[in-house]
Amino acid sequence: MSLEVFDYMGAFDKRPTYAEIDLNALRHNLAIIREFVAPSKVMASIKANGYGHGLERTALCLQEAGIDSLGVAYIEEAIALRACGVTIPILVFGGLLKDQLELYIKHDVDVTASSVSKLEHIDATAARLGRRARVHLKIDTGLERIGVHHYSSDPFFEAALKAKHCDVVGVYSHFADADINNPELAKLQLERFLSALRYYEDRSPRPFLRHIANSAGIMTLKESHLDMVRPGLSLYGVYPGGGYESVLSIKPVLSLKSQVVYFKVVKRGAGVSYGHTWHAPEDVRVVTVPLGYGDGYLRALSNKGSAIIRGQRYPVVGRVCMDQLMVNIGQGEAYNGDEVIFIGKSGDERISVEDLASAIDTTPHEILVLLNQRIPRIYVG
Ligand SMILES: *Cc1c(COP(=O)(O)O)cnc(C)c1O
Repeated sequence: MSLEVFDYMGAFDKRPTYAEIDLNALRHNLAIIREFVAPSKVMASIKANGYGHGLERTALCLQEAGIDSLGVAYIEEAIALRACGVTIPILVFGGLLKDQLELYIKHDVDVTASSVSKLEHIDATAARLGRRARVHLKIDTGLERIGVHHYSSDPFFEAALKAKHCDVVGVYSHFADADINNPELAKLQLERFLSALRYYEDRSPRPFLRHIANSAGIMTLKESHLDMVRPGLSLYGVYPGGGYESVLSIKPVLSLKSQVVYFKVVKRGAGVSYGHTWHAPEDVRVVTVPLGYGDGYLRALSNKGSAIIRGQRYPVVGRVCMDQLMVNIGQGEAYNGDEVIFIGKSGDERISVEDLASAIDTTPHEILVLLNQRIPRIYVG
């Protein structure tokens, strides 16, 4: 995934807005999760540009730290990882289209087989290429996304037993309630998964990995760890919901920072930004910052986001524009070039991804993955 388009003559390096990625925090989170789930293996979910943290650097850091495998959504992401030196197993979670299959086999990427006909196609293609395909079978236990229903999985397992050119390295499912507000549903899905698996466990010629738990599953349902877990959000130091702080002590990996680019006094009653959705209640100082929804700082955060400047927390006021936004510093102090923190901490103030997500009623995942290629990633640690 190339950033070159924005990097004219090194100008990208001088962009005041950037995401700082703390690789020490990433390693810490991996270590904490590993210890918590041991002896289960860990597959890091690094789809969507490593949840906004950068696909390649995140992958290489985790590989070096000894992670067992990586999971992505699309084959393109897996190929980019192979190209940058990832040698550990990579599973593509997403659905498979027939003309993509040769790419999987050529780049030694694990395929999700989600139906009998797809499995037969994988087997036939591997045979034709004179290669073996590494396959994870996908069982649907209640999400109604891809995968074979748990109540009709026996013929699927039969097809897997007949697929002579496939190595079935795993069988997996996925929770329908990603942040597990409803543990009963997760427990039911786990039961369905384990009971469907029995058929295959009795017949499989070799061992395979059973996996179902994402971050929330890891934290709420120990029985779901099975042979492997697939954390995404928690590896990046973000909690999938409230109340998990006591279970795992993870550290945020990403901070989003920029600089004050303009300062003005806005007179009492004046409307600020497009549509004048906010009016100054008195004469106030307002600074402009070069960050907007064109970078992935959501327009929904208009009048809801906040920023830390010189250790003080202030509100984002008016609409977030495509490339700029305004912060009301009241009677506070700020100068051109001052650092502005939108995600991260300074002194006693902290703005978390979780805060932003709950302010606009979305998941922390969305806040992170929408931070786009216009924002340089600076790696520390
Ligand atoms: C994204 C994803 C995960 C990781 O989920 P988190 O909630 O970020 O931990 C795990 N498994 C599958 C199949 C996924 O698509």
